[in-house]
Amino acid sequence: MRGNLPGPRALLRRLREAMAEPVGAQQRLDKITVLIAANMVAEVCSIYVLRGGDTLELFATEGLKREAVHATRLKVGEGLVGTIASEAEPLNLTEAQDHPAFAYRPETGEEAYHSFLGVPILRGGDTLGVLVVQNRARRIYSEEEVEALQTIAMLVAEMVASGEPGAEDGGTDSEDAAKPLHLDGVVLSEGIGLGHAVMHEPKIVVTNLISDDIDTETQRLNEGIESLRAWIDRMLTSGDVARAGDHRDVLEAYRMLAYDRGWARRIREAVATGLTAEAGVERVQSDARARMMRQTDPYMRERLHDLDDLSNRLLRILVGRTVTAAASELPRDAIIIARNMGPAELLDYDGTRLRGLILEEGGPSSHVAIVARALGIATVGQVEGIVEAVEAGDAVVVDGESGEVHVRPLADVESAYVDKVRFRARRQAQYKALQDTPAVSSDGEEVSLFINAGLVVEMPHLTESGAAGIGLYRTEFQFLLAATFPRMREQEKVYRAVLDAADGKPVVFRSLDVGGDKVMPFLRHAHEENPALGWRAIRMALDRPALLRAQVRALLHAAAGRELSLMFPMVSEVGEFQRARAIVDRELKHLDRFGHPRPRSIRLGAMIEVPSLMWQLDSLLDKADFVSVGSNDLLQFTWACDRSNARMAGRFDTLNPAVLRMLAQIVEAAGKHGKPLTLCGEMAGRPLEAMALLGIGFRSISMAPASIGPVKAMLLKLDIGKLKDFLTPLLTSESSSLRGELREFARQHKVPV
Ligand code: PEP
Ligand code: MG
Repeated sequence: MRGNLPGPRALLRRLREAMAEPVGAQQRLDKITVLIAANMVAEVCSIYVLRGGDTLELFATEGLKREAVHATRLKVGEGLVGTIASEAEPLNLTEAQDHPAFAYRPETGEEAYHSFLGVPILRGGDTLGVLVVQNRARRIYSEEEVEALQTIAMLVAEMVASGEPGAEDGGTDSEDAAKPLHLDGVVLSEGIGLGHAVMHEPKIVVTNLISDDIDTETQRLNEGIESLRAWIDRMLTSGDVARAGDHRDVLEAYRMLAYDRGWARRIREAVATGLTAEAGVERVQSDARARMMRQTDPYMRERLHDLDDLSNRLLRILVGRTVTAAASELPRDAIIIARNMGPAELLDYDGTRLRGLILEEGGPSSHVAIVARALGIATVGQVEGIVEAVEAGDAVVVDGESGEVHVRPLADVESAYVDKVRFRARRQAQYKALQDTPAVSSDGEEVSLFINAGLVVEMPHLTESGAAGIGLYRTEFQFLLAATFPRMREQEKVYRAVLDAADGKPVVFRSLDVGGDKVMPFLRHAHEENPALGWRAIRMALDRPALLRAQVRALLHAAAGRELSLMFPMVSEVGEFQRARAIVDRELKHLDRFGHPRPRSIRLGAMIEVPSLMWQLDSLLDKADFVSVGSNDLLQFTWACDRSNARMAGRFDTLNPAVLRMLAQIVEAAGKHGKPLTLCGEMAGRPLEAMALLGIGFRSISMAPASIGPVKAMLLKLDIGKLKDFLTPLLTSESSSLRGELREFARQHKVPV
């Protein structure tokens, strides 16, 4: 587009004027083809629009025969035009008829033309049509011309997407966006949510496509890319990684892409053709998306996905909207849509307005899933393509029973879900009716059902659920939430509020469990190759005893005159537990010295989360006052299977006989030492798993509050003695799961699981 050509910018301006003219859609398209042909010094310019999902119809042409308009149709994949649509790539040919895909359409009269340049009309990665120029002479279109035609196609895409070309005869495929959609995922938190979509990281709709000044736009773009790079560097070096919900490897990939010269160059080139900085980003993003949709290699898809995310972020930087939706006004029935997020980010939202959460990633034991369960938000994860498929404000149903997601549901689907919500409410009422029923099995075994909590706002669940107490209070939630390090007094205030709300029911506090995917925003944390196996929990506490000391002091003050139970996470060897105990003892002396009242009693426990403890059970149980199995971590380490990795979810079954044997061994050891034992991982909250735990001898389990009802309903109907007889011989089985057998037992004995 050099030399005798007026250049793409002038054309873009004229196209913009043409688009604003108050004429009919057909007339406008006709005019556009004339303008493009003249500007490109082409004898032909044609616009094909995709109809019915698989047919490209000639909508307007300058140069081909008039009678072909709305008559010439090609299937996607058929002819040159169909090939461009299916590949979403330009075709630049000196001799069109030599191309194997060339399909002759006599009504068009195109045999007179030799050279051919066609580009897909893309919007958000969707192909809406094809834009073609042709010349009689055999010539090669330059790189710049290809680039310019792609930019023009972007403008045409805006027109096509606004439904204009098809307005006269029934619209185009842009209506697809409004069609109902059904996607499947994995349940992360139970519940049914009906509401409206809120994009966690809002999508930016670029409306101003054509720039007034290339230099200004280029500078804006350069600044945007600079701040994008600075942001990634900052994220990678500060502790913000988890808070932003991005895993380090994703960020590393981002960094690679953000510094990729090709990417930045392509955007700059698009801006140089006369687009605004935003439109330039969108142009390049659209190409990448189109490639992503056709990419079958999962690794490449992932990278293109990252590139897409990065482009979105750059767009947000350019328009100055870099915060998540948590900072904006939420509808009353918000369903948050995100690729992934950290636990703290979910906590940033006003929980009273959240009806659901849908993630593209996320495993059932990830901390965001745990927080979602704590807040009682219906959550489905691993829903591929959800961010792309949904627009802010779309009606969405999250089915946290089946793992389904309905976007823009039809009226009958929606009303079926309204019924389902009512049904659940009735069932909840039944569970609520059980709240004062003692937790005793049908053969008279008493079982303690505790809840897990981590926020003061969750404390009312204790009374509502009728649980025996709090089996795991995750103190780190306060830290994950705070913008600055919570001082001792602030910690004390929270612990006192928790004990007050528990009103005499036992509470087991867990000392700070940070590290892994729980990173405190204000704590600098060096990069670790394997954070789950790294410097976390008690390891950090023992290396930085001031942290643990402040926490212990806060707990001792808050529990003055009351019972205090404290357990330490991620103990790997008994010596660590002993050192932690020594810190508590020292703080007790400190308390005495200043004449502060002591707690009435103090119990110190260890969590069994690291398999190495399996060979130290006797010594541990000798020293600890109680133990609690953190099965989420214990299983991730036993299986060497990342609990937050969606790909690993479901790879090994919790009800594997080897797992149950391991857990039974802990029961036996605790029994021998007469020490209280609880299990507080997610498996305790699933009725079938909870049933298995009772079968191998657990009499105390701790779970998300919403699970108390279903687990108690199971317990009331369960004959534990019978189950034990049934289960014991199966424990030596070589099968990979006893799920089927346990389910069959439950069915035969009418135990609701
Ligand atoms: C566990 O690991 O099972 C546990 C209860 O702790 P968290 O889920 O907080 O790591
Ligand atoms: Mg744990």
